Amino acid sequence: MKTAVYPGSFDPFTNGHLDLVQRASQLFDRVIVSVAINSSKNSFFTVEERMAILREVLASMPGVEVASFEGLLVDYCRTVGARAIVRGLRAVTDFDYEYAIFQLNHDLNAEVETVFLLAAKEYSFVSSTLIKEVARYGRSVEQHAPPAVSRALLRKFGHAK
Ligand code: ADP
Repeated sequence: MKTAVYPGSFDPFTNGHLDLVQRASQLFDRVIVSVAINSSKNSFFTVEERMAILREVLASMPGVEVASFEGLLVDYCRTVGARAIVRGLRAVTDFDYEYAIFQLNHDLNAEVETVFLLAAKEYSFVSSTLIKEVARYGRSVEQHAPPAVSRALLRKFGHAK
C-alpha cells in the first residue's frame, strides 16, 4: 500500500489544498493530511479546530485520513509508514522555501521522497492568508474555500448571524 503524508498549516484549508488532496489520492492508496503543530508559528485556528474542519471537508474521500504531528516530518513519515511527502507549488515564490524543506528532509532521510504537485491555474492565487483577509471584513470566501471553512472563518471573526 502506497502511503503519502500531505503536511501543512492548513490555517485554514482552501480549495487549493483540497485540489491537491484530490489529486494526491489518485496517486496514492492512502493520503494522510496532517496538521503540523508548530508552537513558534502564530496560528489563527487551533490545531483541534483545523482538524475538525479537515474531518468535515474530507469525510467522504476514500483513502484520505486527517491527523496532526509534532517534530520532524521524516520521523513522522516513518511512524505512519509513508514513503512520500506531498507538497504544492504555486508561483515561483513558493519554490525557494519548498526546495529548502525538500533538501533538509532528503538529508535527514533519503528514503522519504517529496512529490510536488503544481497548483491548478484556478487555485494558483488562493492562499490561507488571502481568504482570512476577505473573511475578516465579513465576506464569504466560498469561492476559494469549502463552505465549512468559510463559516468557521466568519464565526471566528464575529460575523456569524
Ligand atoms: P505550510 O505552512 O507548511 O506551508 P500551508 O497550509 O500554507 O502550509 O501549505 C501546505 C502546502 O500546500 C504547501 O506545500 C503549499 O505550497 C501548498 N499550497 C498552498 N496553497 C496552495 C494552492 N492554492 N494550490 C496548490 N498548493 C497549495
